[in-house]
Amino acid sequence: MTLATHIITGALIGIKIKNPFYIVVVSVAVHFFLDILPHGDYVNKKSTLREWWKNALDFSLGIAIILLVFLFRGLPEGATISNITLAIIFSLLPDFTHFLYRYLNMSFLRPIKNFHEGLHYYPNTSPEREFRLKNNLWDIFISFVSFLILILA
Ligand SMILES: [Zn+2]
Repeated sequence: MTLATHIITGALIGIKIKNPFYIVVVSVAVHFFLDILPHGDYVNKKSTLREWWKNALDFSLGIAIILLVFLFRGLPEGATISNITLAIIFSLLPDFTHFLYRYLNMSFLRPIKNFHEGLHYYPNTSPEREFRLKNNLWDIFISFVSFLILILA
């Protein structure tokens, strides 16, 4: 799933759950659950570090959406910036460990990387994993529904 999807769902977890411990657990679990849904990715195992800008763009887009939502509607009752930030960080953590494994050669992360990759419905580099509109309908649906809940919450 895109980082933006994980950021938007993370923000939702951050406003709905108050206990920081549960925020951490649920954020990581939701990340893995979302990755089970069939989706394309704009990076695969052939990608190089030169494609970092795709992640930077995706990350910036997600953060910009969240900032705009809270700027316009304010924080929901009882929500805190620290909880939202915590949820976003842990919603992104599995992909960050993947980055550390791939590009900074942190091989001790291999079991997490294998588990994470194994959750994906289609194998890496298969046509169904290409970043295409038809492959990313779940990404769009989850982001859109989460976005609506964030606005209306
Ligand atoms: Zn992931």
